[in-house]
Amino acid sequence: MTTAFHPVPVALRGKVAHEYHNLVDGKWVASASGRTFEDRNPASASDVIATFPDSDARDVAAAVLAARKAFPAWMATPAPQRGAIIARAVAAMRERLEDLAQAMTWEEGKVLAEARVEVNRGLNAMDFLAGEGRRLTGQTVPSEVPGMFAFTRRRPLGVVGMITPWNFPFAVPAWKLGPALVAGNTVVIKPAEQAPLSTQLIVEALHDAGLPPGVLNLVHGGPEAGKAIVADTRIRAISFTGSTEVGKLINRAAAEHMVKVQLEMGGKNACIVLADADLEKAARDVVSGAFGSTGQRCTATSRVIVERRIKDAFVSRVVELVRQTVKTGNGFEQGVVMGPLIDDRAIVKTEGYVATARNEGNTVVLGGKRASGAGLDQGFFFEPTIIDGVRPEDTLNKEEVFGPVLAFLAADGLADAIEIANSVDYGLSGAIYTRDVAAAFEYAQQLEAGLLHVNCPTIYSEVQLPFGGIKDSGFGGREMGATAIDFYTEWQATYLSYGK
Ligand code: NAD
Repeated sequence: MTTAFHPVPVALRGKVAHEYHNLVDGKWVASASGRTFEDRNPASASDVIATFPDSDARDVAAAVLAARKAFPAWMATPAPQRGAIIARAVAAMRERLEDLAQAMTWEEGKVLAEARVEVNRGLNAMDFLAGEGRRLTGQTVPSEVPGMFAFTRRRPLGVVGMITPWNFPFAVPAWKLGPALVAGNTVVIKPAEQAPLSTQLIVEALHDAGLPPGVLNLVHGGPEAGKAIVADTRIRAISFTGSTEVGKLINRAAAEHMVKVQLEMGGKNACIVLADADLEKAARDVVSGAFGSTGQRCTATSRVIVERRIKDAFVSRVVELVRQTVKTGNGFEQGVVMGPLIDDRAIVKTEGYVATARNEGNTVVLGGKRASGAGLDQGFFFEPTIIDGVRPEDTLNKEEVFGPVLAFLAADGLADAIEIANSVDYGLSGAIYTRDVAAAFEYAQQLEAGLLHVNCPTIYSEVQLPFGGIKDSGFGGREMGATAIDFYTEWQATYLSYGK
């Protein structure tokens, strides 16, 4: 089942099955067609981790039916009890954090240290939202007439569909499931086919913690299963994280039957560096923001907009830092900082963007091709790549690469830098490095993005704050923080007359 180069991770020996199933109505079942797909290790393409059901509309229909049946009783379960089940699952997962992190590195490729951080973050998000079970408050509101008592409360939506990406295979499902379940919804979730094991392990933990049958249903598969979720008119809301292209398709389809959507999509996040900044710190953060998770983060730093008079020196500083610190390799190996891309398609796409940059007259100052060397040929490794001389009208300023490719642009002062940063369709995250408080506030006022950072990287976030973007990056309500509950509930106003 595994190659000598990538054996089963130590923590997972004997704990990972070779064949997984869907969870429908509390039972583990194969797909209706009997078809399966393989989950493979991107650091070693011949290494098959496990097989999963390749589901179609029949599997989704069965899961939605189970979720509908389970909804009335789950809605009637007191919210603190719902939260307590989630908290139990979180505690059990904390006990096996190392297993969960290793599973993620195995199937997604990110380095183990990053996988540990992601699991911890996902658990923190679930934990925070489990606590909302005791805080799902409404309001009492003064009435205009005597003898009338008026109050509001939150009502769950019903069956919620979730479609998630491979790049945060643990944290994204975790931060969606927490608020949806604590608010009293039932769920059908479909994780990305490239990295389904992490979600499998979360669902197992929630199932084992005592979720009643049908409250949480897991349907594995690819776009076919995703489309079936979107087409099922019994689903009342869809929470999606993935590409902007698929997000737009989902939005159009959901509008047909008035289904609520929450779309977390791509980014083209800019880091502005002004001449007065702490340039050493800025360079460090640019490197971690651009090459952490191999650039496969929606919040990755993919553009650096530098004040023209320091631009060349700053590019050199970043190039040198990457040469010294960004070692590419298997995420399980000590000292490795950057793992592989997810698959061969991602390699081809990244190579295509480098070729386009060259055609548009940009300069590749570091990397630019598939990485080779000991062990690297077996996986989807790409060199950390830095491209200078990018102009606002160039492709690399506008399109999301989703790989380890960092573009440098020059700007003439703050206003010009902000204009360039805003000159794209995306609006997820951004950062500025400066010691000038007025510049920082001006930036915070003008930047078109959902997440803003001053002297910290575009990838930074904490679970108790809202997360999400604007423009083509986000639509339909924030995730994480207490505001996450808003998407998963509707306000009801009740007028209770006790007068004559
Ligand atoms: P993707 O859009 O290809 O796939 C995401 C999910 O949608 C997968 O589960 C996939 O099977 C499913 N899917 C694909 N086609 C579908 C269709 N037609 N109908 C229904 N479902 C369908 O994205 P990806 O490649 O898995 O993830 C990378 C993208 O996700 C990047 O653009 C990245 O920026 C974005 N992302 C955004 C955030 C955020 O919070 N904003 C977080 C992580 C990733």
